[in-house]
Amino acid sequence: MADQTYRNIIIVGASTAGHTLANDLVPILPEGYRILLIDALEYSYFPQASLRAAIVPGWEEKIVLPLKTSTCFPQGTNHRVIAPTRVTQLKKNSVVLEKPFEGSTEVPFFKAVIATGATQPSPMRPSLNWTSQQEYMKALRKSQEEIKKCESLVIIGGGTVGVEFAGEVRASYPDKPITIIHNRSTLLTPLTEPRPSGGLDEKIPESWTSPPINLKLANTVASMAKSQKVNLILNDKAIIPQRKPNDDGIEIRTIDGYEWDGSFGLQPALCNICTENREIVKGDYVFLSIGNKPNSGLIVNSDGNAVEKSTGLIRVDQRLKIKASILSDANYYAIGDVSNAPGMKIAYLALIQAKSAATNIVNEINHTPLAAYNPGMFGGLFVAFGPDMGAGYVTIPYLGTWALGSGIVRTAKGKKLLLDKWGPFRKGEERVNILI
Ligand SMILES: Cc1cc2nc3c(=O)[nH]c(=O)nc-3n(C[C@H](O)[C@H](O)[C@H](O)COP(=O)(O)OP(=O)(O)OC[C@H]3O[C@@H](n4cnc5c(N)ncnc54)[C@H](O)[C@@H]3O)c2cc1C
Repeated sequence: MADQTYRNIIIVGASTAGHTLANDLVPILPEGYRILLIDALEYSYFPQASLRAAIVPGWEEKIVLPLKTSTCFPQGTNHRVIAPTRVTQLKKNSVVLEKPFEGSTEVPFFKAVIATGATQPSPMRPSLNWTSQQEYMKALRKSQEEIKKCESLVIIGGGTVGVEFAGEVRASYPDKPITIIHNRSTLLTPLTEPRPSGGLDEKIPESWTSPPINLKLANTVASMAKSQKVNLILNDKAIIPQRKPNDDGIEIRTIDGYEWDGSFGLQPALCNICTENREIVKGDYVFLSIGNKPNSGLIVNSDGNAVEKSTGLIRVDQRLKIKASILSDANYYAIGDVSNAPGMKIAYLALIQAKSAATNIVNEINHTPLAAYNPGMFGGLFVAFGPDMGAGYVTIPYLGTWALGSGIVRTAKGKKLLLDKWGPFRKGEERVNILI
């Protein structure tokens, strides 16, 4: 077992949720406790700007930063960053690491917080196997080359990520044909079905993971995309062929060109991408954007009941503690994209959950009652369409919902893609430069 002098607060995942929690805990944690901030990668990355980094040369350097004790914690600290190291197993009072820390791969804790987020294909998020930042940067540079080279792009899924990707491509390549195939009557995921009324016979989702998006915003975004020559195929789904394991590199020719083999990224030539409504779109770059997958495998292996079957999200109670049956439910919290706390999976809510968990961990130390998580009444969404265009809305308590145009979205998000908010995360003795 590792050094037992301290009572450890283990945080698994050092991205938005985990890193914010560490920052919030540092000033309020009593003596004798220390934070162990663990990540599978040796660097931090910033998903909010990853789409531009996949297209615009130079941006790949802006979205990765070193992740070390000296960049995260103040001088003379007892807190530690352990990276790159994957947590491989959860036990009631300890976690198991893939590499030893202080002479052991098993590290005991007072409380542990799972903040392992979600997985999405690169370029949106790096593979957890790309432990060095050079590997992710290399993948982003490859993506920049491929998008430059392709003749015609097909985006499967017109949610916020698909739309923002289209906007980034259009800003760099004004004439490349772009098509979005989306299974709704307009872009994004607006409320097109009736809201659950709470009737006795009605099945209410356990967690409302993707609350509907303001319909007016969805229509504004669809008009904006059309005005920028983005072809929209709505109320339809692309048919994604299942790839056989030994398919790699084999080109299947048909009389009318190449048949799409279901792979993503740059294709060997223009392919036919078919939809359920029998539309055929020609493209030689396919971008898949149909949501993210909670990174909850770690907890599934230790306590399958702690994960929702339908969504893969970790089940938490009102205090953000994991509802566990095998693992002790007194010891673990889950926050950020991996938790089933209701609401969108966005950085803003990950920050609020981190603050709530920090308060409750210190309440537990002080033997004071725990507080229920409260996401607050502020709501809103900003959808950037490249650096200069976009649309959004904010809902302010008692004042109502306000639509926002390109000017505000450009200033608040589009130009810098929130990179200026990422820098202040690092509160370590070693200063790191954010290239904005
Ligand atoms: C393209 C894109 C655009 C977005 N735009 C916006 C936006 O404009 N505004 C907004 O608010 N949100 C946006 N989001 C969402 C936002 O990025 C996420 O909500 C946020 O990153 C969630 O943070 P997290 O810490 O929960 O998870 P993640 O950011 O997914 O981080 C999880 C961390 O856990 C680590 N990890 C995983 N498994 C292990 C393990 N076993 N052991 C150790 N470490 C592990 C990973 O390496 C990673 O560092 C966007 C997301 C994407 C992909």
